[in-house]
Amino acid sequence: MRAVDLIRKKRDGAEHSGEEIRFLVDAFVRGDIPDYQMSAWMMAFLLRGASSAETAALTAAMLHSGSTLDLAAIPGVKVDKHSTGGVGDKTSLILAPIVAAGGLTVPMISGRGLSHTGGTLDKMESIPGFNVNLAAADIVRVLREAGCCITGQTAEIVPADKKMYGLRDVTATIESKALICGSIMSKKLAEGIDALVLDVKTGSGAFMRSHEDAAELAQMMVETGEHMGKRMAALITDMDQPLGGAVGNALEVAECVDVLSGKRDRMSEDLRDLSIELAAWMFFLGGKAADPEEGRALAKQKIAGGEALRRFRAMVKAQSGSEDFALPSAPHQSEFAAATGGFIIGVDCEQVGLASLTLGGGRSKKEDVIDPAVGLTLHKKVGDAVKAGEPIATIYYNDPAKLPEALALLGQAYRIGPKPPREPRTLVKTIIWSDKQL
Ligand code: URA
Repeated sequence: MRAVDLIRKKRDGAEHSGEEIRFLVDAFVRGDIPDYQMSAWMMAFLLRGASSAETAALTAAMLHSGSTLDLAAIPGVKVDKHSTGGVGDKTSLILAPIVAAGGLTVPMISGRGLSHTGGTLDKMESIPGFNVNLAAADIVRVLREAGCCITGQTAEIVPADKKMYGLRDVTATIESKALICGSIMSKKLAEGIDALVLDVKTGSGAFMRSHEDAAELAQMMVETGEHMGKRMAALITDMDQPLGGAVGNALEVAECVDVLSGKRDRMSEDLRDLSIELAAWMFFLGGKAADPEEGRALAKQKIAGGEALRRFRAMVKAQSGSEDFALPSAPHQSEFAAATGGFIIGVDCEQVGLASLTLGGGRSKKEDVIDPAVGLTLHKKVGDAVKAGEPIATIYYNDPAKLPEALALLGQAYRIGPKPPREPRTLVKTIIWSDKQL
């Protein structure tokens, strides 16, 4: 087989066999196919689209490009959740300990922040000492001690993704849904899980802006997971405003600890609801609840009884984090206030994420160092009334020179009008799931 023939085949719109896709991925990882040929093939794949058989073959080839976690030593069902990324999206920190407290194992391999969206690993690293570089043996130890872990990808897991993602980033091929599916699903399947719940975001803070795109990607990932024998569900959820009341690493961890402690704050209600909803589906797919409704009740019970918070503490301890959390705080605070009175009619979520990034809460370049203390706490949701001069957000920062840009971004993000929006917000828009799997 020659790469040039496969590039031509895809360029002309034909369908690859599984063997051809395996050849491309394996030879690229070995270094036998150069970057320029893989780039050309990925562009053809993006432009011509992929069948479900091709997407499944790509995912399998990527998965088998490296080693997978062997969790055979841990009894019981293993489940995870993956989010396509959003602003203020911190549900992983809440639902992993809830689900572990309910008797399932959650081996969560997470990522870092991408563009305006925050990364779970960056958030966890705001707890001093927390180790996100667990080796396979450590993952098993932490799962035994806490029932859940949050760690980064090791070099041995899906090496194909690291190489392909690096190329996609600079060849305008990130947007291919089949390549996104292969990238996400291969990494999740390498965790050795039995079931997976996907949180596919849609809206101004999401990579998939339209509901149609989000639904297409969700369907593709659900089918691919089912094809590989996993129980799957996807929830398409709102990212037209930040989730919860905090954006920024340490501030988000503090908000999660509050939710896990059972504290109720108006700004965190959507975060709490979505975490419970995702946990409910994990309980259902993992066989701990007869239906999502029972799963919801179980999730609420694990928060109310304090078991979820105890699991979170156990995980932090097992991953060498400071047991009292000892989160860093920024020395300066300023308010972002409403220029006029009225109602919040919309938020450009990406701009809010960029405001936090500008303060140092995210990366503009791969090598940037995150400032865990900076970020925003939000005081208004879409539909809320606001008076002129009333604070919409509090900005936490270390470097006063960065404040004007953050204020300008927030000024662009929040739209105020004379009437509240007519459509109420729906947090969970669509659920993709088929009962044939159970
Ligand atoms: N996240 C991933 O891990 N891969 C993609 O391709 C896109 C988002």
